[in-house]
Amino acid sequence: MNTEMLIGSRFEAGKETPETILNPKTGETILDLPEASSAQIDAAVAAAAKAFTTWSRTTPAERSGYLLRIAERIEAEADAFAALEALNCGKPINAVKGDEIPAIVDCYRFFAGAVRCVPGTAAGEYMSRFTSMVRRDPIGVVASIAPWNYPLMMMAWKLAPAIGGGNTVVFKPSEQTPLTALKLARILADVLPEGVVNVVLGRGESVGNALINHPNVDMISLTGDVATGKKILQAAARSVKRTHLELGGKAPVIVFDDADIGEVVEGLRAFGYYNAGQDCTAACRIYAGDKVYEKLVADLSAAVSTIKYDEEDDSVNEIGPLISKRQRERVSSFVERASELNHIEITTGGKPAEGNGFFYQPTVVAGALQTDEIVRREVFGPVVSVTRFSDVEEAVVWANDSDYGLASSVWTGDVSRAMATAARLQYGCTWINTHFMLVNEMPHGGLKQSGYGKDMSLYALEDYTALRHVMVKHG
Ligand code: NAD
Repeated sequence: MNTEMLIGSRFEAGKETPETILNPKTGETILDLPEASSAQIDAAVAAAAKAFTTWSRTTPAERSGYLLRIAERIEAEADAFAALEALNCGKPINAVKGDEIPAIVDCYRFFAGAVRCVPGTAAGEYMSRFTSMVRRDPIGVVASIAPWNYPLMMMAWKLAPAIGGGNTVVFKPSEQTPLTALKLARILADVLPEGVVNVVLGRGESVGNALINHPNVDMISLTGDVATGKKILQAAARSVKRTHLELGGKAPVIVFDDADIGEVVEGLRAFGYYNAGQDCTAACRIYAGDKVYEKLVADLSAAVSTIKYDEEDDSVNEIGPLISKRQRERVSSFVERASELNHIEITTGGKPAEGNGFFYQPTVVAGALQTDEIVRREVFGPVVSVTRFSDVEEAVVWANDSDYGLASSVWTGDVSRAMATAARLQYGCTWINTHFMLVNEMPHGGLKQSGYGKDMSLYALEDYTALRHVMVKHG
């Protein structure tokens, strides 16, 4: 297991206070990892800045080749990556192997193709004897800061468009889940020219803070909490740095009376609880039509009560534990406060699971009102609330009544109602009769306080490149 950071071409242990990395399934310590010193952060930024002078001049085809080699190497070590991600995050290994690794490999492959089609065209003679063209050029050194819920996937979403677009990167994984980033660092050092990607370890308030305030960082990319996004905006304002922010979510799910309730229940059982609900798009805020509300609550509760999780036997696990004891306490306290309300019924789950790991029972909170905290705040756990609505107007107003704007879904048998409702939802993504599905060809990102900037797709390459006009005078 690699425990050292990548700075330029050197592997180095951090020099500051160690962070204890835990196995969330058992609560046991895996190892302690020291964080980067300020000299090491400076060295990583300097290495990225130095590499930028040559990397930014490589052709898209050359960068495409590098991305394809990274994809190949991850694929070749898929089992080892999956085992490490499962160990560090507590995820069921089959979910990492079956869902995440193929999507991660595909992300690098997608951008290997996409970088060769970066839109930089629009040549035209808009003034007589002057030809104009639009170029897309790299920005510089990107500080990429990732969360703990999908460590290797977030790294792919950030690295592939950034380096594909000709930038160089200093990447900081979450202090809680750095292990797969460190493993990938060995491959990156092997495949890429020196300094194109650097990996530093440490907490947000120290290493993250130093990176976002660093004078030689040109762009900051964060996937994380809204509060962290706001700090980044403040730091970026000082030197007008470009920012790319993917923040939290509280996805509304509108279930109309004509929806196929069997399909809805099957969908919610999967997409409300995937990754133990630690997902910014989790289908966690259900609005059910008057006529289907009772059946939906009954069937969903029965289905959710069968979700399997086991501290000892990962082969049966459909969901894993929460990332930490602290996160479990947070989820628990949300459910406890909700259960004290007279109108609320916890129809299944509602408690931390037995054992030393950080498992929490998959939970359904029925009867929630729009004003309830459980409906309004991001819980980030295996907890789904169900609220009854009486007409489409109420459903849409409630769905939009949120500071977040990342993902949403509409379930109905009526295609025109689906389209009309989707058009009114203020979310970066609306799914119809499904939820949660992402493809590398399509943009992922939020509105409102869920941030801005798109991951995946050609739009991500636009975010990681600067648009420029070049005009030439001719005879
Ligand atoms: P977090 O904001 O606490 O941490 C994210 C990263 O930011 C970590 O690497 C952390 O060290 C760093 N950080 C924290 N404070 C910082 C500071 N002051 N300066 C610089 N860096 C700092 O978030 P988290 O708890 O790791 O992740 C969960 C959050 O991420 C949830 O809100 C979730 O919704 C969001 N998320 C969003 C998406 C999306 O695509 N929109 C995807 C996954 C997770």
